[in-house]
Amino acid sequence: MKEYPIGLVPGPVSIPANIREAWLTDFGSSDLEPDFFELYAENQSLVQRLLGTKESVVITSGEAMSILWGGLKSALKPGDRLLAVASGLFGEGFADMAKALGIETEVAASEYDSLPDPRKVREAALRFRPQMLTAVHCETPSGTLTPLKELGEIAREIGALFLVDFVSSGGGAAVNADENQIDIGLLGSQKALSLPPSLSISTIGPRGWKAIEKVNYSGYDAYLPWRNVPEVTAMPYTHDWHSMKALHISLSSIMKEGMENVFARHSRAAALCRKAALEMGLRLFPVSEDICSPTVSAFYVPEGWTWGEFDEALRKRGLVVGGNYGRLAGRVFRIGHMGSQADESLVVRGMDIVKTVLSEKRGKKGVD
Ligand SMILES: *Cc1c(COP(=O)(O)O)cnc(C)c1O
Repeated sequence: MKEYPIGLVPGPVSIPANIREAWLTDFGSSDLEPDFFELYAENQSLVQRLLGTKESVVITSGEAMSILWGGLKSALKPGDRLLAVASGLFGEGFADMAKALGIETEVAASEYDSLPDPRKVREAALRFRPQMLTAVHCETPSGTLTPLKELGEIAREIGALFLVDFVSSGGGAAVNADENQIDIGLLGSQKALSLPPSLSISTIGPRGWKAIEKVNYSGYDAYLPWRNVPEVTAMPYTHDWHSMKALHISLSSIMKEGMENVFARHSRAAALCRKAALEMGLRLFPVSEDICSPTVSAFYVPEGWTWGEFDEALRKRGLVVGGNYGRLAGRVFRIGHMGSQADESLVVRGMDIVKTVLSEKRGKKGVD
């Protein structure tokens, strides 16, 4: 594996030393030791605080994709309808995944550089009458943050479950899961929590559980067996104790710093990144700064560069940022300032390299 002195990839983010310490201990069997279940329960309540929910929290192995699938499979059955609110790749992805599961889908689509339009969503919801409305809080590939409140209200109005992917915002921005009426909320470990891609975290409200019980899906990624862990001190598989310990370290340091301070640190790093980028002539991908996420910034690949050349030039100077996928591949790149990377001095160092690389090329052009 190659390490770069300055990592500003929008997940997986660099893992701080205090979190790495979780792997220095030899733990017993998570299935057998009461200590594990205590740790699990403590993490549940820390997650509740972080995400603004009094409802249940399920922490499973695997990274976030496992619960994107698990959430759909657990709460819907073939023939059900899903309306995917989409202003980006992950939003659209829910429709693709659901289709593969035999679920009828519709997409309430907006441009990738914009936010979803709640009026369009409501109109589609009233007509299509889905059992589930899906949304993505931070569209990581686009660098946007979607307000959830109105979408939650629409889901409630039509009696649909509201499933939200807050994989790359949770821990870096307020999620307010209960206030936003999220029935099933999804978070991964390798973004703002600064862990490896090893755990997935779900918030599940009473309406979510009701649907899950009715569907009664069983499979590796099923939610149902997790309903009463840790009360029953039994799990469907051996859990990742090291990651669970690392999660505890991460959540405890967020609480120690203060959630509001952590969110403010993300906003400052984001503002600094965008200001520096605009000053050096980069173009922001989202249509305006006020729809940008505090956890990731997306810019057009600068004129006169291919993404490959630009990426290589940055790497040569020790900086690694994120490329893109799908229709944004080669056109838009991302700077990830989430979790351990929401650090103003790190962002300054990174942006200085971007500036140097851009001005070197401009200089060369002048000479040619
Ligand atoms: C990272 C991410 C995921 C999960 O993808 P991984 O394969 O776990 O990296 C899901 N949704 C969003 C919005 C993400 O940013």
